Amino acid sequence: MFISDNYDVNAQGNLTIGGVDTTELAAEYGTPLYVMDEDLIRNTLRRFHESFKKYYDGKGEVHFASKAFCCLEMCRLVASEGDGLDAVSIGELYTAVKAGFPMEKVGFHGNNKTDEELRFAIEHGVGHIIVDNLSELSRLEKIAKDMGVKARIMFRLKPGIDAHTHKAVMTGQIDSKFGFAIETGEAFDAVKEALSCENIELSGLHCHIGSQIFDIEPFEEAARVMLRFIADVKNKLGFEVKELNLGGGFGIKYLEEHDPVPFEVYMERVSAVVSKECEKLGIIKPFIFIEPGRSIVASAGITLYEAGSRKEIPNTRTYIIVDGSMADNPRYILYESEYEAVVANKASQPRDERVTIAGRCCESGDLIGENMPLQHAEAGDIIAVLATGAYNYSMSSNYNRLQKPAVVFVKDGKSRVVVKRESLDDIISNDV
Ligand SMILES: *Cc1c(COP(=O)(O)O)cnc(C)c1O
Repeated sequence: MFISDNYDVNAQGNLTIGGVDTTELAAEYGTPLYVMDEDLIRNTLRRFHESFKKYYDGKGEVHFASKAFCCLEMCRLVASEGDGLDAVSIGELYTAVKAGFPMEKVGFHGNNKTDEELRFAIEHGVGHIIVDNLSELSRLEKIAKDMGVKARIMFRLKPGIDAHTHKAVMTGQIDSKFGFAIETGEAFDAVKEALSCENIELSGLHCHIGSQIFDIEPFEEAARVMLRFIADVKNKLGFEVKELNLGGGFGIKYLEEHDPVPFEVYMERVSAVVSKECEKLGIIKPFIFIEPGRSIVASAGITLYEAGSRKEIPNTRTYIIVDGSMADNPRYILYESEYEAVVANKASQPRDERVTIAGRCCESGDLIGENMPLQHAEAGDIIAVLATGAYNYSMSSNYNRLQKPAVVFVKDGKSRVVVKRESLDDIISNDV
């Protein structure tokens, strides 16, 4: 009935998430409110592990892309499942450190890391730093030397795959601000350079071809390109790369009409490509890292709002204005990302109206979505926007000096706050 099995309707006709009545959550914690289903997050991580076991002899590790949803409790959850993290800033690294995360299971990304961030990463023993460019490599070499250590790195490469076209186009992505291009020779030169650095240990190579990708072919093609490059390095430099990081980007179901391939299928097909290609190229099968973000948390999360005014503009549209905004969900104003919504307290009724759900910010473009099927909504109704677990809380802001909502985890019929709602004093806490 809903886009994800963890959403349901109870006997009272209210929407539930992970078995918990969303109208009760709204009453207890207030709105807007982010709610995350802990079991679904854990089960999804376990499905990834199972796939590695089943299709690749368990020679792989999941690094949750923490930019999709990062807070102390999420880091603890990921650690308790035995997975790693992909972090992209000192703030994400600091959160992991404070959560007691095993830092050797952290990969540190970023296309413009500061010296402070590089030092922090080394001090806290991150597993590998994913180096984006040559100036970063030389800064890192100096920093590692000063600190008397050898920094373990991967290189971020551009395999030249444009995943947003529906075919794998091999040249589309040279124009990207991330990483080294393979086809220009830039990546090869970087590997040579790294091998000559005393305080750098090149452990692997990385690529990430995009996000919310529904096709399998671009992933298969990226794996092939990376493995061919590994073979080229082996043949020309006598150095064998033993770790391959294939990034994230698995698509999820936001709308009824979306039909993403279950990620087990990606895992099966890409593992098969890797095994076959390695044999063909005469290289050892690398240890594989993947960095899923959205596919782990998106469906696990919803946002609850209270409806305020209803504005019917004849022959134009009906606005339902909610007590949230682009400050808690900037994805519509950024990318026109679409979501399904439900009136939580009328969830068993048909969604027989088409409305625009608008936020409360001083921007006409501050919409949660347009032309959305919804039950007849009036002031005081609770509106649930589904599949907001990824890139909503993590992209939220204080625009209009709005307080960021709380994040609540539900599990086994119970709920608990994992991020408190910001107070008014939080809003002015850094003002002097
Ligand atoms: C954003 C990102 C990911 C995660 O992407 P999802 O689409 O959320 O799975 C993984 N790796 C890198 C390098 C990223 O930038």
